[in-house]
Amino acid sequence: MFSSLVKNIGSRAFKGSRTVGSIFINRAQLSSLVFIEHKNKKIDNATLNTITAAKNLGGPVSALVAGSDAQEIAGQVAKLDGIDKVIVANNPIFDNNLAEVITPLLASVHENIKSTHILASHSNIGKRILPRLAAKLDVQQISDIISIENESTFVRPVYAAFPPAIEKDSASPTEETTAPEITAKSVWVKEEVIKADRPDLSSAKIVVSGGRAVKSVEGFKIIQDLADKLGAAVGASRAAVDAGYCDNSLQVGQTGKIVAPQLYIAIGISGAIQHLAGMKDSKVIVSINKDPDAPIFQISDYSMVGDLFKIVPELTEKI
Ligand code: FAD
Repeated sequence: MFSSLVKNIGSRAFKGSRTVGSIFINRAQLSSLVFIEHKNKKIDNATLNTITAAKNLGGPVSALVAGSDAQEIAGQVAKLDGIDKVIVANNPIFDNNLAEVITPLLASVHENIKSTHILASHSNIGKRILPRLAAKLDVQQISDIISIENESTFVRPVYAAFPPAIEKDSASPTEETTAPEITAKSVWVKEEVIKADRPDLSSAKIVVSGGRAVKSVEGFKIIQDLADKLGAAVGASRAAVDAGYCDNSLQVGQTGKIVAPQLYIAIGISGAIQHLAGMKDSKVIVSINKDPDAPIFQISDYSMVGDLFKIVPELTEKI
């Protein structure tokens, strides 16, 4: 086990990319194991960034695909640039990515292939699995990696930097792995997906976000009306969420969702670093704030200084 050198950076240099969580084990021969997240027979986008991160490390990259659809996903993974081998755990016990069952599986695969680095995307799933795995293997976990300088020097936090993995001409070999004996104490109950008429916040092309300045649940309706006119998703700052003006699933930022739409409209949001962490990769940023010195204007492409209660309804009406 070794510690890593950590640098702090925070700029707009890293566009449209995601962070990676990783575990490091000091061995002579560099090799990586990537946990592949997938859903509805599709590889998760953040996992594609993670594969590129593993490739950047330099050694051979193995991918672990688990669950009932593992074989099908393995075919897709094997074709990705950067992947040298795909390991398949074709077993429904691994559906839904319960940390309790994925962790021993990863540990067992790691024991077989003796990887020096184990990587997963910085998702809810990765964040549940990697700390357990680190404890199990008694090694250090490093979160939020945005760039790799070498096998022991990593740049963090947030604002990821790895482009998604792309398809190559040939497919890497795949092999089956036998699941270790696992007794799970938790069971998957169900997934409740909130049905909404608006686009999904994480993948919407346009996001309209409101901050503390909307002042109330009624005030937040101004944000929703504009979003509906634009066919946009609704977002919010943590201050708006904490004040109860909207649901916490709308929070954008370091501790909320990370978005990178074509257009992000920030209304009555000051531009705290934790908010910027979740939206600064947006292609075009428009801000409305009554304070001409609001920090949000520093990263905005279009800035409107004025009262949101006047500007936003006018804008909505004119669209
Ligand atoms: P404020 O900072 O209060 O800004 C309100 C803005 O509205 C001001 O700029 C003001 O000039 C403007 N305004 C006021 N009235 C009007 C008006 N009538 N018309 C136009 N403009 C007006 N924050 C997040 O957003 N997301 C996160 O994920 C997040 N994670 C955090 C994690 C940690 C560990 C910590 C410590 C903080 C986190 N925060 C997060 C909180 C963050 O630091 C800020 O407190 C928060 O983003 C502020 O929200 P705001 O911009 O809505 O409110």
